[in-house]
Amino acid sequence: MDKNGFYRSIPKVDILLEDERIQAASRLYDRDTVMDAIREQTEAVRELIRQCDDEERIRREIDQLIPSVVRRVEKMHTPDMRPVINGTGTILHTNLGRAPISREHMARLAEVACGYSNLEYDLEAGKRGERYSHFEKLLCKLTGAEAAMAVNNNASAVMLILSSMAKGGEVVVSRGELVEIGGKFRIPDVMEQSGAKLVEVGTTNKTHYTDYADAVTEETKAFLKVHTSNYRIVGFTESVAIDELIPLGKEYDLPIIEDLGSGVLIDLSKYGLTYEPTVQDSIRKGADVVCFSGDKLLGGPQAGIIVGKKKYIDQMKKNQLTRALRIDKFTATALELVLQEYLSEENAVSKIPVLRMITRTAEDVEKSARRFKRMLDRKELKASVTLQKCESQIGGGSLPLERIESWAVCIRPETMSVPELETAMRHLEVPIIPRTVNDTILMDVRTIDEDRMKLAADELKQIL
Ligand SMILES: *Cc1c(COP(=O)(O)O)cnc(C)c1O
Repeated sequence: MDKNGFYRSIPKVDILLEDERIQAASRLYDRDTVMDAIREQTEAVRELIRQCDDEERIRREIDQLIPSVVRRVEKMHTPDMRPVINGTGTILHTNLGRAPISREHMARLAEVACGYSNLEYDLEAGKRGERYSHFEKLLCKLTGAEAAMAVNNNASAVMLILSSMAKGGEVVVSRGELVEIGGKFRIPDVMEQSGAKLVEVGTTNKTHYTDYADAVTEETKAFLKVHTSNYRIVGFTESVAIDELIPLGKEYDLPIIEDLGSGVLIDLSKYGLTYEPTVQDSIRKGADVVCFSGDKLLGGPQAGIIVGKKKYIDQMKKNQLTRALRIDKFTATALELVLQEYLSEENAVSKIPVLRMITRTAEDVEKSARRFKRMLDRKELKASVTLQKCESQIGGGSLPLERIESWAVCIRPETMSVPELETAMRHLEVPIIPRTVNDTILMDVRTIDEDRMKLAADELKQIL
């Protein structure tokens, strides 16, 4: 094979620059980006000639050089972060951005963020204010706590709390509550970063009141409870509830810290889910400091919310670490908006997307699924489209055993394999992420917004 001939047949840069399509791209985008794309693409073709013995393929790549350059330039100017359609039925999907924000809140957020705002400006006093002021009162009202603040996420909240309350000292925690939260991040390792020493007590399945008491030394600064969010130990188990730890804290004059993980503000058992201890419960029972995520069951922006006794929250606000972990104007705005919805529970469950998805009845999801199926039927796809009962999950390390009855639209393609269809769906302009079960593509309708169904149907028509 005449490799040198192929090398010579790659058009020179000045020839490429005269091409109409390249010139159009140079006018639309900047010339440097186009030059970079030409260099990268010709290098890719050279590499192919070096590596590959398929003459047909090499010829094709050389023929396609100009369109490939234009595609490269366009790709550089297309944002990679994009919306996707979540057909997995996992409501708090960490890989898919956890809690969606409502359009109404987003519109307000755009208004605030597009210009200047009173993020740290006290409009009453006409001087410097505090970025937590916009939602601190709300958090106190909703949870019964004396004071509140928020940082970047719950992992940083845990770190800040321990750094402020226990740096250089010991914190007693049950061995059964040392969780890995995913992505290889482990709560105990995050905690150690705070400079506090963890003293693990009890065994994996059992921790008794006396284990905590026996671990107290001169160095002990606090007791810590961690919600075992993403797993459950069942069977021969015992743990010490927060209300039992309170008297122990009083006896030794030590604060009780609780990492609730998800942190719910409403009683989910009213909606047919397992009861999850609420933040209000922890505060009422006497926890000194409680922290939880903003974008798990709360349904808001990524944040780590800290509520509790004023003297501890004040210490945290003064901690230098707070500056490194502080929330920005997007989070402050979104947090206030989502917390305001909780002033009425009815509002919260109807307006916060996460709660709306969780509390949707199976009948309601079934109706949507039927609508979605009709849309797909009208497209006459080269596939069989059926409805099937399925189960949604909460996800995000919340209520790991919970399964919510739901409905899915199933697709069995006729002209390609299931893995091929799954790949094609991932490469759509608005990618669709389905669940694949037993050689079927399954789209759980609980997590698909009504206004996305038409788009999904149009997109599926493109590939089927
Ligand atoms: C999820 C979780 C965290 C981490 O929260 P992020 O907001 O994701 O940082 C910490 N502790 C517990 C118990 C959790 O469930």
